[in-house]
Amino acid sequence: MRTPTSPVCIDRGRLKELNDRELKRLNNSTPKSEAMYERARTSMPLGIATSYHWRDPWPIYLTDGKGSKIWDVDGHEYIDYLNGFGCMVHGHAHPAIVRAVQDRITRGSQFCEPTEDAMIVAEELKRRWGLPKWRFSNSGTEATMDAIRMARGLTGRDTFVKIFGSFHGHHDYVMVSTYLPVEQIGPRDNYNSIPYGKGIPACVPPMTIPVPFNDAVATEKRVERLIEEGRKPACIMMEPCMMNIGVVLPEPGYLEAIRALCDKHGILLVFDEVKTGLTVAPGGATEYFGVKPDIVTIAKCLTGGLPGGAIGGTEEVWEPVERQEVWQVGTYNGNPLCMAAARATLFEVLNDEGYAHLNTVREHLLDGCQKVIDKYNLPAYPIGIGCKGFVTFSPVKVVDYESYLANQDGELTEFTWHYLANRGVMAAPGRDQEFTISVQHSIEDADRYIDVFDELASELTG
Ligand code: PMP
Repeated sequence: MRTPTSPVCIDRGRLKELNDRELKRLNNSTPKSEAMYERARTSMPLGIATSYHWRDPWPIYLTDGKGSKIWDVDGHEYIDYLNGFGCMVHGHAHPAIVRAVQDRITRGSQFCEPTEDAMIVAEELKRRWGLPKWRFSNSGTEATMDAIRMARGLTGRDTFVKIFGSFHGHHDYVMVSTYLPVEQIGPRDNYNSIPYGKGIPACVPPMTIPVPFNDAVATEKRVERLIEEGRKPACIMMEPCMMNIGVVLPEPGYLEAIRALCDKHGILLVFDEVKTGLTVAPGGATEYFGVKPDIVTIAKCLTGGLPGGAIGGTEEVWEPVERQEVWQVGTYNGNPLCMAAARATLFEVLNDEGYAHLNTVREHLLDGCQKVIDKYNLPAYPIGIGCKGFVTFSPVKVVDYESYLANQDGELTEFTWHYLANRGVMAAPGRDQEFTISVQHSIEDADRYIDVFDELASELTG
């Protein structure tokens, strides 16, 4: 990763003109999506199944996916770098996943009684993370919700600490201090606990204490103040590598310092690896950075595009569950269909060969983006890890939520998304989401991204 030395100054008028042109082109070329939206909004709020499918003026409705490609209702083909927000590291309709799911569904897909696959998946996750016991959930949200309950159940404490700006799912406890404008953040040593949207009871946010990423000193001071106030946290929940503000890596020594802080005070460390788990290394960020949490949550790509998640933990954190004092439950937890997909994911897709390919394609893509940045002297830098990456439009390195808000260029990021989409490259939308490469992406797919990025840079700066 290299930040630019003296980048060009982006002509904002030209950027606006180009962005308007690209938006118009996208809207004009997606009439069937528009018609589908008009129909869908009569039966679904905003015409979509989850608010995160929203796009102004209408979403792009899809029909098919195969390998690295997806198709929309207007017949456009895209190389998919959104990849289901990181669920589809397999690529679409991977033969191993199709085989496993087809086989399982013909033999029964839900019994609400245990099957062997769940045990085999748990054993493999245990081997990869070095955490002895695992249970399952149906999403990342359920995994982080259960992890917090387990931490509270074991310690008997209500308060917990999270990183300001991190997203951990949509249950009330974690929908706090994320996606906020700068004026609501509050002072760095005492960030505000603010609910993300309405409907969250007023008693909830004060239990969730936000601290800055990559700042162990500020975290230590905040934790010590909480202890003085008689509100020792049950856990610190964090993404070891932040992935909801592009990609922000931990600075050297940071994760170790947080681990030491937790050990010093008897606070549990929870790594939310819903995005990093299985995507950055076989044993996630835990393996990659060599710092071990007490609890880990994973989801997204674990179950091959089906809904699923998992929670791993030390013997100690599972004891209250073993004693039936803390309830970790769910009708669909570890259901046979998702477990068959997870087993195929772990043994047939995300194996050594799979990771080697992901790393090769990511390096090629980011090297290509770096060359374009250098050629046009753009205020940007590429950053990535495993199959995840991002071109951060910022002249300086982003290290936390505050520096992201202050420096990352949202307009340039939006323009890039429109420009790529119009040329058959589907990037992750918004200024916060990183791209995901799949095992079915080729070097040619990466070259297409680089070529379009070059074209964009040439138009923007020319
Ligand atoms: N944790 C993290 C780090 C996430 O990025 C997300 C979703 N983007 C979640 C939890 C929630 O996962 P889900 O959408 O499966 O509930």
